[in-house]
Amino acid sequence: MTIGERSRWLRKIYGGREPYIFPSYGVRTRRISRRVKHLKGMVECGATAEEFAPVLASAFRRVLALSHHDPELNLQPYLGRKYGTTCSYCHQANCTCQTVRPEPEIPAEPPPITLTWGVRQFQDRLRQMYFGRNSQSGAKQAVLKLAAEISELDDFFHSVVELREIATVEQAREQFAFECCDLLAWILGLANLYEVDLEEELNKRPVDRCHVCNKCPCGCPFYK
Ligand SMILES: [Zn+2]
Ligand SMILES: [Zn+2]
Repeated sequence: MTIGERSRWLRKIYGGREPYIFPSYGVRTRRISRRVKHLKGMVECGATAEEFAPVLASAFRRVLALSHHDPELNLQPYLGRKYGTTCSYCHQANCTCQTVRPEPEIPAEPPPITLTWGVRQFQDRLRQMYFGRNSQSGAKQAVLKLAAEISELDDFFHSVVELREIATVEQAREQFAFECCDLLAWILGLANLYEVDLEEELNKRPVDRCHVCNKCPCGCPFYK
């Protein structure tokens, strides 16, 4: 199952309630922040992979729910463009980026094979590109990078809403998509550091119905 399909299923199950219980990107982003804080605490107190995995999976799903803020957006091609080949900064299969990196060069089209990739294939590709670097700098650093990606998302919306720096829907969608992809990539990077198979963890919940009420769309009461 591709990440795009996974996201569409989540939207089918929960999309009806999302505009009411997560009415803005701010609320959706704060839900991710809470998970990231949780992950940070877990890294600091030396949690095991088994403890870490469900929180990572939850963060992953919450990023997909954030992407539903734009009903037309499918992250799959953007993931392929940014993370489907080589590091988009240094263009190496095994990233050799220095601390100060040039602007990324991202291909206009994804490599076609990446349109069929699921969570596992992207996790594998990210392992090839970044595991060496990330394992040197450690999980604490990785979780800080994930937190920093959330601030980039805030900056993005600030530039759209307050500064009016982004002119078209296409530009806004592309930038929003890449910010969501960066969040997913750091979550997958953390999964690699903890040797968590995130696809397996995500599949512990049914993909095609709510894991609580077993219905699609979900029929759970909003607040319990
Ligand atoms: Zn690089
Ligand atoms: Zn339900």
